[in-house]
Amino acid sequence: MAEVLSQGASGFTCPRFGGAIWEHDGGGSTSFECRIGDRFSEAEMWIEHCATRNRAILTAARALAENAALARRIAASAERRGDAAVAARLEAEAQEEDRLYAQVRAMVDGLSEDDLDGTA
Ligand SMILES: [Zn+2]
Repeated sequence: MAEVLSQGASGFTCPRFGGAIWEHDGGGSTSFECRIGDRFSEAEMWIEHCATRNRAILTAARALAENAALARRIAASAERRGDAAVAARLEAEAQEEDRLYAQVRAMVDGLSEDDLDGTA
């Protein structure tokens, strides 16, 4: 291991578990280490951080798709018991979820196969 010349808060979070991560300047090579000992070179940090970003985008897509489906399920219940106002409001919510999902879906589609390796 290279001698650590200086270290400090990096302003980033550990891509594995989300805690603070410190930057170690070893003179020519910077590395990152979190409180529980995850250690990354700059290149590893970049790769791990991209994977974290991809998971976040996929999680957002899933949450939006599920929210739209749930709103429609509850709207159908409301319809069955004759509550047209609630049914209409939930259908409007579902359409808003669909609109947001389409935006996130475009982001998912913009990720390359390489980006998605190991993240699904
Ligand atoms: Zn960590």
